[in-house]
Amino acid sequence: MISSSEALKIILDQQFPIKSKNVPLREAKGMLLTEDIYADRDFPPFHRVTMDGIALKFKSWEAGKRSFLVQGFQAAGEPQKTLESGDHAIEIMTGAVLPIDADLVVKVEELEFDESKGFKSVSVLSSGLVQFKNVHLQGSDNQLGDLLVKKGTKIGGAEIGVLATVGKASVQVNENPDIAIISTGDELIPVNETPEPHQIRKSNVLAIQAELDQRGLNSEVFHLLDDRKQLVNKIEQILARFPVIILSGGVSKGKFDYIPEVLEQLGVEKLFHRIAQRPGKPFWFGRSKNNFVFALPGNPVSTYMCFIVYVSVWLDNIQGQDLQKSAQLDADFEFKPDLTYFLQVKVKNVDGLIKAIPVTGNGSGDLANLANVDGFLQLPGDRSVFKKGEIFPLFQFR
Ligand code: AMP
Ligand code: MG
Repeated sequence: MISSSEALKIILDQQFPIKSKNVPLREAKGMLLTEDIYADRDFPPFHRVTMDGIALKFKSWEAGKRSFLVQGFQAAGEPQKTLESGDHAIEIMTGAVLPIDADLVVKVEELEFDESKGFKSVSVLSSGLVQFKNVHLQGSDNQLGDLLVKKGTKIGGAEIGVLATVGKASVQVNENPDIAIISTGDELIPVNETPEPHQIRKSNVLAIQAELDQRGLNSEVFHLLDDRKQLVNKIEQILARFPVIILSGGVSKGKFDYIPEVLEQLGVEKLFHRIAQRPGKPFWFGRSKNNFVFALPGNPVSTYMCFIVYVSVWLDNIQGQDLQKSAQLDADFEFKPDLTYFLQVKVKNVDGLIKAIPVTGNGSGDLANLANVDGFLQLPGDRSVFKKGEIFPLFQFR
């Protein structure tokens, strides 16, 4: 039996080979970039006007000139025009290209237009103007060829914006593993059936599938009976199709708990079996060349906790994410056995500090209690008394 932290370390040491694929930008959200993204032009790509007003020559204003002849206008989206002379001004709009020979924009609030003499002129009322005022200079944010987003970045809305602006209609991202979720047990029936007194509805696999869906990961659900021969046959087929397999049930010491021996028979090497923790002690983990196999205990709270604490952290890790948090225990708590205890807690944020309030329900096996809590607080196994105010690792699922 190994400790919870040793188990987590063994799992996180397993590198999943990253494969790359090309997807349309619309589908890239939440995935990892597997290419560097460079500026395909300067940003901004031209001297971009940032105020509605007029464009003119700074030298004229500096020399004391305050009244200019309006030669026309330049709107956003129009090709660049040319200022006729230092006596002229061009009416200009935000987002337009600064005209050739102009190097100053004066905003409309500092202008007075006059059309009373049969032509349009403008007076500049501002003081303290400088060259290129109200102009966002070409290349001042980024220059052609600059690295904008690094390989390995998780793509969110902001990254989508950058990708769009450099013309990436499709982009290289990591290919997520296809995941098989397998429940085992003769007592289990589908959710929509009415259980006989000796039967139980399958809940685990759906809880795990929902968590995988939330992470944008593809999964397929299977159910196998506690029949050694069938297990060997079916798991062999599933191993050939799915790089990642999450099993639930059949890993304890019961007469029909065949999973560990079946997996080893099929060439999946055991990396550990049994963790000094509650819940979830019988957890089995192993791998072969092409497979990563998480065989979780069937008790629904154990399954869910082992998924959140180990499998989900591994999935985050292979997606380049480290979301590890900690929280402050908000009440004294006692747990005697020499096991790491995953305490069910509600969390609240108080002045930037996460407080964890124990909500134990009917103990570590209480499935319905999970709906009342936000995460598991990892209390170490080497002591039995935990004091209010102490900080522990938090595995938050809500
Ligand atoms: P096992 O790990 O197979 O010994 O199962 C431990 C307990 O969890 C038993 O009471 C099972 O009936 C229950 N169990 C196993 N798998 C599931 C499942 N998929 N959904 C709900 N309960 C389960
Ligand atoms: Mg079972």
